Amino acid sequence: MVAVQRDQATAAQAGAARALSPCVSVCRMDPRTGLCEGCLRTIDEIAAWGDMTEGARTGVLAEIETRAALLSRVEPATTAPAGKGAQGLQRGVNDPPQGDWPSTLRFIQRDWLSCNSVLVCDRNAGATLFDSGYVKHAVTTREVLAQHLGELPLRQLVNTHLHSDHCGGNALLQRTYGCEIAVPRASWHTALAWDEERLSYRATGQRCPRFRPNASLAPGDVINTGALRWEVHSAPGHDPHSIVLLEPQHRLLISADALWSEGFGVIFPELEGESGFAEQEAMLDKIAQLAPRWVFPGHGPAFNDSERAIAFARERLAALRSDKARNARHALKVFVKFLLLDLEFIHVDALHAHLADARLFDSAARLAGMDRNDALRWAVQALCAQGLARRAGEVLHNSNDAAG
Ligand SMILES: [Zn+2]
Repeated sequence: MVAVQRDQATAAQAGAARALSPCVSVCRMDPRTGLCEGCLRTIDEIAAWGDMTEGARTGVLAEIETRAALLSRVEPATTAPAGKGAQGLQRGVNDPPQGDWPSTLRFIQRDWLSCNSVLVCDRNAGATLFDSGYVKHAVTTREVLAQHLGELPLRQLVNTHLHSDHCGGNALLQRTYGCEIAVPRASWHTALAWDEERLSYRATGQRCPRFRPNASLAPGDVINTGALRWEVHSAPGHDPHSIVLLEPQHRLLISADALWSEGFGVIFPELEGESGFAEQEAMLDKIAQLAPRWVFPGHGPAFNDSERAIAFARERLAALRSDKARNARHALKVFVKFLLLDLEFIHVDALHAHLADARLFDSAARLAGMDRNDALRWAVQALCAQGLARRAGEVLHNSNDAAG
């Protein structure tokens, strides 16, 4: 009788029971949730498991119980149309047509959570990757890279800046390929010391596994990727430490978050009362002067009509500049949307807790004239109204991938 009761209880808690012990052999990551399908641990937890104290493991297991409960409420992934692209889109990788740029250059377009990457494969110089996406997609990034690389070694990885969506794959790629990692010189010391506050991860509530940089790049430096040689230019505005890279012979520009086909990244310095709009305007002037033929942005499609994109960006900048609260409100939505893209769903109480240390969220709230609780409520409502989030009871779900 006792045994029967135990069996029934086990069956009733099948999801949680399954989650309560780590996988015995190989973990299979679910790209939709960023969790192992079997044990519901994240990549970071799996990697750190061997070195964790018993207390830390118990903490993770408690967290996994919550995940198991939440997962039983989450809807299945949106059904993408069958065909070659469907799997790629689900995993945050689009397969855009390659343009008439040198064939050694591959533009790997991702989504809003993981930035795009540019890969240059040179038979003599080896391969160079520019930016590595967000940690949730790190395994996919490595798979996609492996397809492009074939037998070619990944020799170097260059980051335009160290926001979590641009260097989240660094640690895994460094472990896999032993590649050298070059970061903007202005971020060298913070990256080396892994100061999570100054690297913005704590201030935004985002995550990024630690990696060790090997080299730094300053304006005027040149990166040799074989036949293509890239000039380093400073690119303040979105991030005061960011760089962009110009290949002058073919006039190719890796523009990071300084210029997209329609817009640019949040102007973060302004959220903290520092200058950013003026720098962004100067940046647009600089890109206009560089007159690139092809632009490979941090997010969205590559484009070859930079004049149109610059004109669009100037209009948007003028609008943000005339109303600083607008920049702040935009940032509030971006913070919450980014978390939803990462976590897929979150209980509203957990959302408050998750952003408890997010200093930049507080700064944005103040600029928008709200306290943090009102700002969070406002951002959730605004995202739901735009169809970018969906609320089911007390759980907020991600909805489509059209974040800005
Ligand atoms: Zn960025």
